[in-house]
Amino acid sequence: MEFADFAARAAAIEAEPADLETTTLVRELFEAAGEDLPVVVRFVQGRVFPAWESTTLDVGPSLCYVAIARAAGRNVSANDVEDRLAETGEIGAVAASFDFGGQQGLAAFGGGGQTDLTVATVDEELRALAAAAGSGSQDRKLDTLFGLFNRCSPDEARYLARLVLSEMRIGVGEGTVRDAVAEAFLVDSADAAAVRDDATAEAETTAARERRDAAIEAVERALQVSNDYGRVAVVARDEGTTGLDAIDLTVGRPVQAMLAQAGTVTDALDEWETVAVETKFDGARVQIHYDGREVSLFSRNMEDVTDALPEVVEFVEREVDVPVILDGEVVAVDDDGSPLPFQEILRRFRRKHDVDRMREEVTVELHAFDCLHAAGDDLLTDPVTDRHDRLRDVLGHIDAVSELLRSDDADEIEAYEADALEAGHEGIMLKNPEAAYSPGKRGKNWLKRKPDVETLDLVVTGAEWGEGRRAEFLGTFLLSARVDESSGDGSGDEKPEFRTIGKVATGITDERLAELTDLLEPHVVAENGTEVDLRPTTVFEVGYEEIQRSPTYASGYALRFPRFVEIREDKTPETADSLARVERLAERQ
Ligand code: AMP
Repeated sequence: MEFADFAARAAAIEAEPADLETTTLVRELFEAAGEDLPVVVRFVQGRVFPAWESTTLDVGPSLCYVAIARAAGRNVSANDVEDRLAETGEIGAVAASFDFGGQQGLAAFGGGGQTDLTVATVDEELRALAAAAGSGSQDRKLDTLFGLFNRCSPDEARYLARLVLSEMRIGVGEGTVRDAVAEAFLVDSADAAAVRDDATAEAETTAARERRDAAIEAVERALQVSNDYGRVAVVARDEGTTGLDAIDLTVGRPVQAMLAQAGTVTDALDEWETVAVETKFDGARVQIHYDGREVSLFSRNMEDVTDALPEVVEFVEREVDVPVILDGEVVAVDDDGSPLPFQEILRRFRRKHDVDRMREEVTVELHAFDCLHAAGDDLLTDPVTDRHDRLRDVLGHIDAVSELLRSDDADEIEAYEADALEAGHEGIMLKNPEAAYSPGKRGKNWLKRKPDVETLDLVVTGAEWGEGRRAEFLGTFLLSARVDESSGDGSGDEKPEFRTIGKVATGITDERLAELTDLLEPHVVAENGTEVDLRPTTVFEVGYEEIQRSPTYASGYALRFPRFVEIREDKTPETADSLARVERLAERQ
């Protein structure tokens, strides 16, 4: 593909505001890319190298400015480039604002502004540039960049400059690439049209959508496992979903880390009955790859951090006999082996210089908690507990393996948590014992335990009629806290006062809404449009994530993410929670 064609298409993509149309333009770009597909897939995301490769161009902005200035001609200096950058704020626009030699030269021969650059040439030159090392390498990088800019038209220069400085920003994220790959090579055009236009019969649209979703899922899985968009696009095109399904883990290439959501012990027990519980270590995530000869370590963002953690490398070399991919956390510890705050591990992680000296200062301990591959077996789809067993098998040194408790008993889990906190750790992780390892997903199968906040018992002082299907029900309920003075002097005959603190509409089933409407409607004292005032009669137990100061409500507080828990039938408005309790809880947060 001509680089000019790529640049023109990139410009069209950048100018397109709608997501759907952007995906179509990216799909057309992929379809037109031919043998340059892997490069085009990376370039459109502003990447020169696949995500798993830790190679970088190592070109700073100033080197790029000098190269642009040199290509722009004798009268232009790097300072001029910087001045223009200060005006436009964007290096692509600056690069496009100069007339480079190549264009002028070609124009003189009637080339009409066309240049001879191809996507493949740009890729080769940038790779050569990245490989330049040792003395004089900066000069060689400059020469290469100058040579490239010199051959650019303004549009080509715009996207070359952005590519070199990792500032592509044309609105093509990973989701767009995934969808575009699926649509270009896996989804039949009739299905794509059915989903897009929603015009065909509903059953057909549903079937088409399911096929499209399955294709997208296959692309996504392959991406998460390989982290190589270029390769995934080519396999999708040449071998279809069967080829994608066959893409396996490769020892030495990082996998996207599985992530956790916040959750509670109750959530976990409700969802899975038995929970796999582990300590939550407060350190830095590390993915360990050992191919039988060499160890490499990667951060959560898949950067290569091998050189920063030599003791982990030595440990793995000593303890592991078979090729593995392990997941874990490295934690800084004091002389007694107790964990130190997270900031301490940051002094070691990603460090490139003085590693030996820092090794003396900050001791690091590994806690491995997962095994994604062992001795030729990919374990991603195996359950947590099997992977943990495998982890114990391959890692001889059992202290470095997280202890896993299987439990269906909230008290036992809480005792485990108390021990973890006592030992100085951050808390616990709750995992679905049956769940696969889902790379890159912040799903519900791993929960980081969030301390339960205390609920509040609040008085319902107003409500709103629902909309649409729920129009005949009261749907949103205005909540108030009791003003404390009104709890009175013991005489018991003054009326309590209430101050509003929030509205709750979440957590209530349709059935419950009907019941609540029957209960509350007789107490409506005033009506204003869809809003009603209610005589205080009923107390709701309400959960929330946080109490915030807020001018929105009369109490001066508001609840974040309030959710209905229960009607407190045992409580009257007089015994509902007071504003003083709200204040105390807010302060304790
Ligand atoms: P957070 O960073 O708060 O989203 O919590 C999730 C992180 O906790 C993970 O990315 C890991 O780095 C870390 N972590 C610590 N201990 C564990 C464990 N036993 N299992 C999974 N993740 C853990």
